[in-house]
Amino acid sequence: MARVLITSAIPYINGIKHLGNLVGSQLPADLYARFQRATGNEVLFLCATDEHGTPAELAAAKADKPVDEFCAEMHEVQADIAKGFGLSFDHFGRSSSPQNHALTQHFAGKLAEAGLIREVDDSQIYSHADGRFLPDRYVEGTCPNCGFEKARGDQCEECTKQLDPTDLINPRSAISGSTDLEVRATKHLFLCQSQMKDQLDAWINSKADWPVLTTSIAKKWLHDGDGLQDRGITRDLDWGIPVKKGTEDWPGMEGKVFYVWFDAPIEYIAAAGEWAEANGKTDADWQRWWRTDMGAEDVKYVQFMGKDNVPFHTLSFPATILGSGEPWKLVDHLKSFNYLNYDGGQFSTSQGRGIFMDQALEILPADYWRWWLLSHAPESSDSEFTWDQFQQSVNKDLADVLGNFVSRITKFCRSKFGEEVPESAPYGAPEQALIADLTTRIRAYEQHMENMEVRKSAQELRAIWVAGNEYLQSTAPWSTFKTDPQLAATQVRLGLNLIRLYAVLSAPFIPNASSVLMQALNCDDNSWPTDVEAALSALPVGHAFTVPDNLFGKITDEQSEEWQVRFAGTRD
Ligand SMILES: [Zn+2]
Repeated sequence: MARVLITSAIPYINGIKHLGNLVGSQLPADLYARFQRATGNEVLFLCATDEHGTPAELAAAKADKPVDEFCAEMHEVQADIAKGFGLSFDHFGRSSSPQNHALTQHFAGKLAEAGLIREVDDSQIYSHADGRFLPDRYVEGTCPNCGFEKARGDQCEECTKQLDPTDLINPRSAISGSTDLEVRATKHLFLCQSQMKDQLDAWINSKADWPVLTTSIAKKWLHDGDGLQDRGITRDLDWGIPVKKGTEDWPGMEGKVFYVWFDAPIEYIAAAGEWAEANGKTDADWQRWWRTDMGAEDVKYVQFMGKDNVPFHTLSFPATILGSGEPWKLVDHLKSFNYLNYDGGQFSTSQGRGIFMDQALEILPADYWRWWLLSHAPESSDSEFTWDQFQQSVNKDLADVLGNFVSRITKFCRSKFGEEVPESAPYGAPEQALIADLTTRIRAYEQHMENMEVRKSAQELRAIWVAGNEYLQSTAPWSTFKTDPQLAATQVRLGLNLIRLYAVLSAPFIPNASSVLMQALNCDDNSWPTDVEAALSALPVGHAFTVPDNLFGKITDEQSEEWQVRFAGTRD
């Protein structure tokens, strides 16, 4: 039994995510976790909410709530929606947890001991009216280059010139509009990533099996221009993890917190600690997943994320881990995704364009979305959601191919033999041919799943469903029954066993439908079909079942058109 540690990029706390976010990390991570568990491996699957930083503070202010209360509430909202989508995290943690506070401070202390942190004098704009320092994006003013009056402190959107907040003419706070600002001296800690360039380069070079998309992004950051740059790891904010050196105060850093990019990936580790605490386990129980000196040497660690997160996961987080000099587990495989677009444009959180996770579950069950999103995952290039395609895919793959197969075989059996597996002869040549075909296909399916080739896995699974339909079509038990009821009984017995096989194989994609099928079959044998012939005899003669309700409803043209209008923009 292998041990597989799986993390999904952690979603930011300030709002409900759209389906593009879901398919770029959490959903394929769940697919992989479910497959690994189904094939008998030991899995720890972790995710969390990313809770620190200015956007969380501003969202809380907008909601007129203290930021800790706002984050606690939004965490529950995201956790409920994740449950609704069947995301099978072993733990859904919070980057604001005590575990992450302690670990982040610990890593900073170790990095300082190793000489990998330096202090940098800086200046930042302070707003008297807001009583706080303003990050670049929260200072607005007139662009010195083009005169645009709403230029932001980091960049002018009109002429795209990169700016410093102090370049702006008539600067004002984007939070309160106040012009009572002053430039104040401040100090920040920087992680000396540049010192670790060779070590990171060697580590990336050792990953010959990583996709070129991943390694080329890392190489670009390592070598382009002046090479990998040192990065600030502190901010002048209230909300975050206080800057400390391990458990000790950090002179000169009073009142500052760690920058969110530094503490967020450390939450992958902290979430394991939260998981242990929540489940009455010991420190050793989570450390065996994360410490190579405590059992994690044989763990396979896989990360899932959108392509925009690749630099952080190939460079910044590994710099933290390697720089600590401690034996923490490094990622073994990094699966990254392109973007999913929405109906001729982009998903937009600010414009409410596209489908958000809560809205999706309001209109259709999770499995419909899971199937479409995974079977159209943006792997080799960006992909696009359109209502036509979605309707077609659900109606054909789920309703016509899988749903119809289940319905035909169970209803036919009930009408001719009753609701139990009929007395019948051993499987003959057509059944053996099907078994051989399915064996080939299932081995291919396993390989694609193991390789995290999401689309190929979906295609193979669909082909496995189709093979059953073709068998039913060609053997036609409803005709056979008239001349040879015994043969029809054999065909039906195979068909019923195929439903169980489909339930087991399909569970990583459509877990709810799979469990409905297992319940209808009155079966709790979820064992993976390593031997297909044996798997197709799992339900013995005389085994009772019930005909399940219609497994998948079809999406009508009216629904599709209505939803297209509803999700075109500006959510309520
Ligand atoms: Zn400008």
